[in-house]
Amino acid sequence: MKKNVKNENTIDDFKKCLFSGEQLTKEQHQIQSREHTVSTLKQEKLALDPHDNKRKILNCNIHTLPWGHYKIVNSEAKIICEVCNPHQPSTSGQSC
Ligand SMILES: [Zn+2]
Repeated sequence: MKKNVKNENTIDDFKKCLFSGEQLTKEQHQIQSREHTVSTLKQEKLALDPHDNKRKILNCNIHTLPWGHYKIVNSEAKIICEVCNPHQPSTSGQSC
C-alpha cells in the first residue's frame, strides 16, 4: 500500500473497521514500465483488516493476548478483557 493512500485513513475508518468488523479497501494508482512501455495501473488494495491472526482478540475488540497464553483454553471461546472490565473474572476462572 502506498504511503499517500495509507495516510488517507481517518480515525473514523479505524473505528468502523475495529467495531463493525468490516474490511476497508482503497484504490491506488501507479505508473509502471514493462519492456519500455509505460502504462498506468489502478489497483484495489486492502487498507484495514480487523482480523488479527497473530493474537487472540478479547471481547472488547481492542485488547489482545498472544497465542499460547494460559488464559486461552479454547481458541473459539470469548475471553473477557480484564483491562476494560476490571471487576469481572475472565472465562478461565484463574486470577493473576
Ligand atoms: Zn479491553
